[in-house]
Amino acid sequence: MIDLHMHSTSSDGEWRPTAVVNEAVRRKLTAIALTDHDTIGGIAEARSAAKDTSLRVIPGVELSTDYGGTSLHVLGYFVDDECPEFRARLELAQQARDARNPLIIERLNALGIAITLEQVAKLADGVIGRPHIAQALVSAGAAKDIRSAFDKFLGEQGKAYFPKKRIPPRAAFKWIHDAGGVAVVAHPRTLRYKMPKLKYGDCIGRWALEGLDGVECHYSGHDPATVKELVQIAKRMNLAITGGSDFHGPNVRKGVQIGVGYGSMNIPDSLLDGLVEAWRKRHGHSASESPACLQ
Ligand code: AMP
Ligand code: MN
Ligand code: MN
Ligand code: MN
Repeated sequence: MIDLHMHSTSSDGEWRPTAVVNEAVRRKLTAIALTDHDTIGGIAEARSAAKDTSLRVIPGVELSTDYGGTSLHVLGYFVDDECPEFRARLELAQQARDARNPLIIERLNALGIAITLEQVAKLADGVIGRPHIAQALVSAGAAKDIRSAFDKFLGEQGKAYFPKKRIPPRAAFKWIHDAGGVAVVAHPRTLRYKMPKLKYGDCIGRWALEGLDGVECHYSGHDPATVKELVQIAKRMNLAITGGSDFHGPNVRKGVQIGVGYGSMNIPDSLLDGLVEAWRKRHGHSASESPACLQ
């Protein structure tokens, strides 16, 4: 069993990369990918935590992009986490969040909620994001839990929402390819919340022309019909089929666990072979070559 989508304290997860790896080992997974938002800061720790185990750690990342005004997440796998150009690009993406965070705090202050950016920053280890602001809102008694902090204040319909600047999907694909990786569209189901009439085949077909390599078909929040539809589309378009839990910790995204998601997910090892095949195809590697993390 594998799990190709999870977060650590390097972005908005609750556990350090070491704790995430330990849990994956305890659950007897064979491979995981750490996919923190716009950062690869946790990869080195995860890699060293897994060193004397049979768990393979795939360097990953989750980039925020803009698709028709809606946030679309793109996962990158097998990225070279030491590539200076990639690091500089991720810095840019983080700056977009850093530019937005003070605006949210100001709006919250205007609503009579006395929290400061310094307080929020103390809750974060690396990237400061809305989940950390949500945590501060809960501590200040302004919301009963993370979810209601998003519903009332931080979500797209919330009173203190500010969008951050986002790159187009094709730029994310290029950043990932330039760093030696493959690009996979994350949890396509979330697009339908904003675009109920969206046909997955239309957008995925367009992204495939722009450099997309795979589709996250298996996902904690995907119902069986969605999984089936996405798998069919991925197969038809010759894209890799991937999957992951999007684990953030026991409190952020309550109920989602590493490997099994809400309980029933089971992503077979064979999907990793498909992703490696996509990597070979994208970068012109031969059948005998494999990404460094799998050697
Ligand atoms: P940011 O990238 O700073 O805008 O924060 C976005 C992150 O907030 C997402 O990656 C999710 O982890 C989290 N998030 C977004 N919407 C919600 C929600 N409604 N409830 C809980 N967490 C959310
Ligand atoms: Mn998140
Ligand atoms: Mn996401
Ligand atoms: Mn995620």
